Amino acid sequence: MEGRNFNGYGKGKSSKMSTANVKNEQNRKINLIAIRCKYCLVKVESVSIHDIKSCQCGRVGVDGGREYLIRSGSIDDYWELSEWET
Ligand SMILES: [Zn+2]
Repeated sequence: MEGRNFNGYGKGKSSKMSTANVKNEQNRKINLIAIRCKYCLVKVESVSIHDIKSCQCGRVGVDGGREYLIRSGSIDDYWELSEWET
């Protein structure tokens, strides 16, 4: 008779939760999502989720309303007009 124990199962299992304190614009509450195209000078504003708007020339666009921030187009092609809560 061999009294075998498998005691080593699941010991010393520690899951480390690392909370990175990243301060970026995504962590702040968005008041307004808006950009202005440098080419057609049209102000593009997203007021709600899936409210995808693009400028007149189609170079840049925004989406997300106040929930998230999506900008399409090159960052060099628009001026940032979005506002965040401080
Ligand atoms: Zn444009």
